[in-house]
Amino acid sequence: SEGISQPDAPEAFEGRAKGDLFAKFDELIAMREGLLASGVEDPFNLVMEKVLSPTRAICNGRETILLGTYNYMGMTFDEDVIAAGKEALEKFGSGTTGSRVLNGTYQGHKECEDALKEFYGMDHAMVFSTGYQANLGIISTIAGKGDYVVLDIDSHASIYDGCAMGRAEIVPFRHNDIEALEKRLKRIPADAGKLVVLEGVYSMLGDVAPLKEMIRVSKEAGAMVLVDEAHSMGFIGEHGRGVAEDQGVLDDVDFVIGTFSKSVGTVGGFCVSNHPDFEIMRLVCRPYVFTASLPPSVVATAATSIRKLMHGSNKRAHLWENSRTLHKGLKDLGFQLGTDEPQSAIIAVIMPDLTKGAQMWEALLKEGLYVNLARPPATPANMTLLRCSLCAEHSDEEVSTILGMFERAGKAVGII
Ligand code: PMP
Repeated sequence: SEGISQPDAPEAFEGRAKGDLFAKFDELIAMREGLLASGVEDPFNLVMEKVLSPTRAICNGRETILLGTYNYMGMTFDEDVIAAGKEALEKFGSGTTGSRVLNGTYQGHKECEDALKEFYGMDHAMVFSTGYQANLGIISTIAGKGDYVVLDIDSHASIYDGCAMGRAEIVPFRHNDIEALEKRLKRIPADAGKLVVLEGVYSMLGDVAPLKEMIRVSKEAGAMVLVDEAHSMGFIGEHGRGVAEDQGVLDDVDFVIGTFSKSVGTVGGFCVSNHPDFEIMRLVCRPYVFTASLPPSVVATAATSIRKLMHGSNKRAHLWENSRTLHKGLKDLGFQLGTDEPQSAIIAVIMPDLTKGAQMWEALLKEGLYVNLARPPATPANMTLLRCSLCAEHSDEEVSTILGMFERAGKAVGII
C-alpha cells in the first residue's frame, strides 16, 4: 500500500532454507515490519493494563474510551452478572475439565441453554465453547461432502472454516445481493442438500442483511437457512433476538448461531433451533464433543446476562441513540462511512489507505480513544477501516467527546 516502506524481498527473506514452513508468511512479515518501521504503535498488540468499566480502560498508561469492543450492551460489569459468576466459581470450581458429553455438563450449562431457549422462544439450544466453534461445528456437521453451502462472500472466517471442515461445496454470492443468491440456488441440483448461511449484521461495515427476501428465495429453493446473529443479539429486534426478529422471519430460520463474546459480555457460542431432530447434534458435532465445556463461572454469567437482556429495551433505545449521534456527527465532520444510515451498533470509518488508517488509529489512541483497525485482506474491497462499535453504557457526553477526538485526529492526519 502507498506510503508503507516495503523491505526489499531478497533481504527480508534471506536465510530461509528450502521448504521452510514459515516462508508462506514472508509477505505478511514484510508488511508488518514496514508498518512498524513507519514509527506507529503496533495496532495489533495493544495491552489493556486495567479495565475500569465497559467503556473505559487504561491502555499504555493512558485512560482510554473504548469504542471497539463489541461489548454492545455493557454487561461485562453488570452487578448481577458478576455476582452469578463469583457464586458459581465458589460452588462449582474453576473449570469442568471435560467434554459436554462426558463429565462437562453441569447444572449451569443446562440453565444457560434454558435461558437461550426462553430468549429466542425456540425448542433447542446447544452451548459451545466459542461462537467460532458453534459455526464450525454446526456447518461442518450438517453440510458434508456432496452438499452445498451457499454463503455471502463477506461471511465470517468461522463460516468458511465450517464449510472447509465439512467438505461441502462452497457457493459464494455477492454481498447482500438477493438476485445473486437466487441465481446461485437455481444452479444447484434440485435434489442436493442445500444450506444457505447468512449474517444478520456484517461486522466490517455494520450493514444489515435483507433477511426477509433472502430467506424467502432460500425456502423456495428448498434450502435450510442458518443465520449468524453475533452482532445483533441483545440489540436489534423488539426482544433483542436479532435481525431475523426485526424483519419478522425468525420462525423461518432453521438455525440461529450466536456468541456470548459480544452483547452477552463473556465467552461462548450457541445454536438455537426448532428442528425436531436437533438434539442428535450433541453426539455427532465434533467441535462440541471433542473439547472441554465452558467453566461454571462463564455459563453462570452468560445465563444471568441473557435473562437480563430479555428486559433490556431501555438500554437498546439508548444504544440506538448513540449509534445515530455518532453516525451523524462523523458524517457531518466529513468522514466517509460504511453505510449511509446507521444500521447497527457498528460504524465503519473508511480510511484512504493503510498508512493513513494506521496513523489515524494511533492519533485516536493518543487522544484516548480505542477503535478497531481493520485492513486487507480481512476487509471487503480491500478497504482499510476504523471500526467503531458502540456500547449502551456510552453516555451522551462520551459520544460528544469521541466526536471531538475524531475531529482533532482527522485534521492532524489530514483526512478531513
Ligand atoms: N460470527 C461472527 C459474525 C463474528 O463476528 C464472530 C466474532 N467476531 C464469531 C462468529 C465468533 O465468535 P466468538 O468470539 O464467540 O468465537
